[in-house]
Amino acid sequence: MTTQQPLPLHGAHNPSSLKEGTNPGSFANAPNVGGPRSYSSPDTPGMPAPSSKTAWDFMPLDWEQREGKWVAPIGFVPCTQLEFARLGRVTDAMRRVAEKETHLSAEQIRDEVAAGRLIIPANREHLAKSLVPMCIGRASKTKVNANMGASPVSSGTSDEVEKLKWAERWGADTVMDLSTGGDIDACRAAIIQASTVPIGTVPIYSMILGRKIEDLTLPVILESLRHQAAQGVDYFTIHAGVLREHLPLVTKRLIGIVSRGGALLAKWMLVHGKQNPMYEHFEEICAIMREYDVSFSLGDGLRPGGLADASDSAQLAELHTLGELTERAWRMGCQVMVEGPGHVPFDQIEYNMKLQRTVCHGAPFYVLGPLVTDVFPGYDHITSCIGATAAAYHGASMLCYVTPKEHLGLPKKDDVKQGCIAYKIAAHAGDVALGIPSVRDWDDNLTKARAALNWEKHFELAFDTDVARAFHDEDLDVDTDFCAMCGHDWCSVRISKEIVEFASGKAEGFLREKVEKSGALTMAQQEILAKRGVLSPEEIHRLASKTRSAVGVATGAKAACHSDAVDSKIARDLQDERLIQLVRAGVVESPSV
Ligand code: SF4
Repeated sequence: MTTQQPLPLHGAHNPSSLKEGTNPGSFANAPNVGGPRSYSSPDTPGMPAPSSKTAWDFMPLDWEQREGKWVAPIGFVPCTQLEFARLGRVTDAMRRVAEKETHLSAEQIRDEVAAGRLIIPANREHLAKSLVPMCIGRASKTKVNANMGASPVSSGTSDEVEKLKWAERWGADTVMDLSTGGDIDACRAAIIQASTVPIGTVPIYSMILGRKIEDLTLPVILESLRHQAAQGVDYFTIHAGVLREHLPLVTKRLIGIVSRGGALLAKWMLVHGKQNPMYEHFEEICAIMREYDVSFSLGDGLRPGGLADASDSAQLAELHTLGELTERAWRMGCQVMVEGPGHVPFDQIEYNMKLQRTVCHGAPFYVLGPLVTDVFPGYDHITSCIGATAAAYHGASMLCYVTPKEHLGLPKKDDVKQGCIAYKIAAHAGDVALGIPSVRDWDDNLTKARAALNWEKHFELAFDTDVARAFHDEDLDVDTDFCAMCGHDWCSVRISKEIVEFASGKAEGFLREKVEKSGALTMAQQEILAKRGVLSPEEIHRLASKTRSAVGVATGAKAACHSDAVDSKIARDLQDERLIQLVRAGVVESPSV
């Protein structure tokens, strides 16, 4: 007799709003919104505990605490969401964010912003235009960033604006313009003008346009930041954490410094024999960013560029400096998130996420991947979305996508789509695992449609409706109660449906209504299939028509072998007689066992 193991329950919310499911739905910790853990994974033994401090411990030195409340000096005018939150004010942006984060109230958003655990990257210039405010923080849903930008050898402004709209279409929550070539200034202005999502930049790229890095001066740095802030950029990557004393630590690395900003500033420090000017003049940078409410994305200039360099002394020394800079930015009233690695073996991801939570007092962590192996160039959207899923579960708040072109070239439109989808998967999987309320409703609804063999609903709920429908219709563009993967006799879902009238499949909205044949492949779907390199559009049409006639379906009717329409024996016979003939003829693939 076996002893049943108890489920590892830690009190997380069920991520289904209807509390559906045969288990609690999440093995994560109980939610702690308002505390240091928000939504969090249980700590593996040995992991760093959350910091006992928040942004409330790093107030501007001229504020005072009276009767338990912080009071700003007379004449103080709040500029940033953090300052409004510190004064207890719920802004319009906070209200709009709460409408999207349905599990959080506007007051909770305000309190998380005040604690420094959540940011609303919304430059006042962009907010006055088309920006739809969103938030980044572990109490909210996990966000995805898409990078784009012209390079000196590829692309231009119109291509980049098209990529921006494409990234928004495929779910990017923010976009970084990393242009290093072409008319960078015009490209940035066009992207901000066209975007509804926050735009981030790495300002040092434009600071060295037309000059060598060693000629970079403080006035150039400040002027460049002011210009981009006035344009409406919502967050800046500032590589202020790379210090002179860190540079000897990278000499043992396999691949040295892989961050462009980190490498440029390292060279500046070596040439001048001085400290990083972004670190030395950090408060002056803060003053500009505060004025426009540009959020910090404290750059990880020493992130590892390969598994062998992960969690090394250079990376961790920089992280501690980023913790110090987080405190300094909070004192200046600025919103802060912190950037993280990079390339990290799977087993080290939890440690990296939880160490940042400790060192940076819960400031949102924005991670680049991480890739969990280095040997699949061309597929790094997959190697990294595995790491990104673990990162989200263990504490990252925003995931920077990686496209199949990573390490190889500038992403094109389809690479942007592939990267976005890989990262939407990672973010959503992380949110389900963390037990964020109601995020699994989408999965449950699709499961119900699948259980009911309701193909239309199935396609409609799929993240990429066109691909789902095209893949289905490639083999059978008729409404059968099975698909070509297993065929009629082997379709376990159909058999299950026969065994029991599965309740979820009978729920309102999931019942099969009038059964119709598919409306044939759209141009977009034909393109999807053509790109697979298997069949030409003509061949697909020929195959679809052949299948339709083979199973004897008339317009608006179920397939003759549909077991709702005929008894199972006739259905099986029809399958034998007709579909199996197609298998033998090599037109439809053999059912897998
Ligand atoms: S045929 Fe197989 S893959 Fe297709 S619906 Fe049935 S069980 Fe699922």
